[in-house]
Amino acid sequence: MCSICGKGLVDKAPVVSVLHEQPDGYERLDCHPECWKTAPRDWEPFSSWEGVYAAPPPPDKKETLKKETADELLRHLISLDDPAMKTVVYVLAVMLERSKILVERDAKEQPDRTIIRIYEHRRTGESFIVLDPRIRLENLGDVQTEVVALLSGTKTLGEVSSEAEAAANKADDAVTPPAANE
Ligand SMILES: [Zn+2]
Repeated sequence: MCSICGKGLVDKAPVVSVLHEQPDGYERLDCHPECWKTAPRDWEPFSSWEGVYAAPPPPDKKETLKKETADELLRHLISLDDPAMKTVVYVLAVMLERSKILVERDAKEQPDRTIIRIYEHRRTGESFIVLDPRIRLENLGDVQTEVVALLSGTKTLGEVSSEAEAAANKADDAVTPPAANE
């Protein structure tokens, strides 16, 4: 349904999605492009992008459990709104983007040089607002290993969040042990 005129959105037709900053978070609006262009408003969107509306498909019973687990974990972690989880949340979002479950819609650099990235779920259209803490590229692999351990259930969330944080903040001058000769 169009957030402005209240009429239905048309499957496969263009749609404008908007994030409106509110005291308690962001309100997501989806509207007909004409409605967005012509409706009067006294606020500026935090972010807006144009996409193609996809009517929600009937539930897919064949969808793999693993994918469901990864994006449900992301939903859960974002709902916790815990700064200690920021590294895990970000790396999980990157992994979901690489698996084509999420698509990045916008990125906004903050004064402290972190970036707020806005991802959209390709199937459900939900938006996920994720802080990119700007992990050094060479540390990303170690953090990813922690997230995989969390997904596979071999480590708890508490273990993973502190180890991921440590891995993300590993200094560049840390001594790398020489590779063992095999
Ligand atoms: Zn409309």
